[in-house]
This record gives sequence, C-alpha cells and structure tokens, in this order.
Amino acid sequence: MPKKTARPIDLRSDTVTQPSPQMRKAMAEALVGDDVYSEDPTINILQERVAGLLGKEAALFVASGVMGNQLCVRTHTRPGDEVLIHEGGHILNYEGGSAAALAGIQLRPLPGEGGQFEPKDVTDAIRPAQEHFARSRLVCLENTHNRAGGTVWSLPRMRAVVEEARECGLAVHLDGARLWNAHVATGVPLNAYCALVDSVSVCFSKGLGAPVGSVIAGSEEFIHEARFHRKKYGGAMRQVGVLGAACLYSLDHNIERLADDHRNAHLLADRLRVVEGVSIPHPVDSNIVMLELADRGLSAADVVQALAAKGVLAGPVDRTRVRFVTHMDVDQGQVARAGEIAASVIGGLGAAAAGA
Ligand SMILES: *Cc1c(COP(=O)(O)O)cnc(C)c1O
Repeated sequence: MPKKTARPIDLRSDTVTQPSPQMRKAMAEALVGDDVYSEDPTINILQERVAGLLGKEAALFVASGVMGNQLCVRTHTRPGDEVLIHEGGHILNYEGGSAAALAGIQLRPLPGEGGQFEPKDVTDAIRPAQEHFARSRLVCLENTHNRAGGTVWSLPRMRAVVEEARECGLAVHLDGARLWNAHVATGVPLNAYCALVDSVSVCFSKGLGAPVGSVIAGSEEFIHEARFHRKKYGGAMRQVGVLGAACLYSLDHNIERLADDHRNAHLLADRLRVVEGVSIPHPVDSNIVMLELADRGLSAADVVQALAAKGVLAGPVDRTRVRFVTHMDVDQGQVARAGEIAASVIGGLGAAAAGA
C-alpha cells in the first residue's frame, strides 16, 4: 500500500483547529431564533454566561475578535480622539487599519517590553485639554499579548496601569482574545482581570477551539450602545445560535485543557532554545513561542518555507522572527516531533549559511 503523506503539524496559529464531533453535535442540535430580535435562545444563554464569567453586566456575541475590539473602540470614542496602545498591539497592527477607517480615531503607540508599558508611559502620553490636541480618551491593553509571544500581564501590573489611566480620565479596553490563556497560566480569575476594565473582548475561535465567535462585555449601557454599532458594521446575525452552541461547548470543555497547550509550548521552547544562534526573546507564559533568527543571519520567510517542506507549519512575524502556537489539535508527541524537525532544519540552514 502506498504510504499516506503525513498531515503537516500546523503550529501557525491556534485558530486552525477543527470543531470536534461532539462540538459539531452541539451545533447541530442548537435551539435558534432571530438574534436581531434578541430571540436566539442559545446566544442569549451564551451572552448571560459570559457576562457572569467575566463579571460584567452585559455581553454581546460578535463575528470575530477584530469586530469585538473595533466595536469597543468605536463605542468608547468620538472621531478625532486618541487611543493609547502598546506599539505591538493587535488593534494597531493586525486589524486592517480599521480603528482609523471606521472609528476615525488615531492610535498612539507606547513602547515597552513584553507588550506591556508602565503607568508613567500613560501619564507621559496624555495630551493637554487644548484645541491643538487630540482628546486622549482610551487605553487598550492586551492579555495575553500576541505579538510579544503570548506574554501575560500580572494582575498587579495591569492594576497599576489601569489606576493611572483612570487618574488621567481614560476609559480602558482589554483585548482578551486569549484572556483564557492568561487565566489558566496564572490562576487569576477572569473576573479579577475584567473588574479593572470598562470593556473586554474574548475569542472562542483561538485556544478554545470553536470555529467562529467572540463576545464583548461591559456595562448594560455600553453594550446597548455597542449593539447599535454592531448593526452598522454588518455584524447583527440571525439564527446564529449554531455558532453560539460551539462557544458554549468550548466553555464547558476546553478552558482547563489550555494548560496542556502551555506545557507543549514550553516543551517546544526548550528544544529550540539550545539551537545555536537563535533565541526566544520573550518569556513563554502561555501557548506562543517566538523564535528570533537574526543572530544566525536567517530570514523568517526562508525558515518557514524550509519547515513547511519537512511538514511543520509556522508563521513569519517579521523579517527575522517566526511564531509557533500550540493548540488542541496538536498533542505532546507532535509538538516534540515539530521541535526535533525545527531544530534540525534551522541547524542545517545555519550550517549552509556559514559554509557559503
Ligand atoms: C486573534 C486576535 C484577535 C482577533 O482576531 P480575529 O482575526 O478576528 O480572530 C484580537 N486580538 C488578539 C490579541 C488576537 O490574537
């Protein structure tokens, strides 16, 4: 019999997971109604449950994490306002420029290690209330921080920044696409993180393994307003409980198991760390491993291509950085194998470069 080509070990993102048969069954059996009339029972249960989990008055199902963040930015601001965010933030780097295009605000990037900044960075960025200046209005935090390698804000550090932001009269939004990972990594309850902020967005289509869906949460008034914007952005959907059922399933089954993904990320990082001339620039706090190749003179694109040829998929982050993300569809054995393959591929490319 011809040997079947092995499926690649896909570590490009935790968004590549397939819904499990049990999750699909929950979706198929979901009770649904027209959610534009607020009559989808599954979505209503999901929104109530997530509001409860996050300790907020109300919650709203949205099509994607980007839509969730953008609705929150839009709801907190008026055109011309300024929004403070880490220079590596998702809202600044990976949302198609939509904060400028759709909310008409300007983003003010702040520097800092690990996707985090200090209270003083907020104070220093506040603009005087004068006609020359944009109005400083909102600060956006991200936990875990994607571009900084899944790093986690500790509760005290986040609290210090939020207190300073409040002192300066700013609202605070939390991009919590992977807040589940921060919670599992630290044991800090979800509602303890969320109590600090005015609005939060969480994703179900990352580590939790649902095919589609995010939820935003905040005060009754905030969510009421965000609902108007959701309609404007084309995000009000009809019998969307088929998707909500997958999210509910993921809350019941897929939160605690994120610890496995975190262990697997450590396993991979430990294997890659010992390859000469490469480094892992951030602490591996959750399910993301960033690999820096600059010292070895390798390009991210070349490494990603060479890895793919050997059956390991990873993603280029910039010219010299490659990202690996662990998730529920790769087990420990596959991650260990990916580590061996990556170590050997990168080692080989380095040798070729040195010999040239
Ligand atoms: C994935 C992600 C989002 C949402 O992106 P989508 O493409 O809408 O899934 C938002 N914020 C962060 C930090 C993310 O990693």
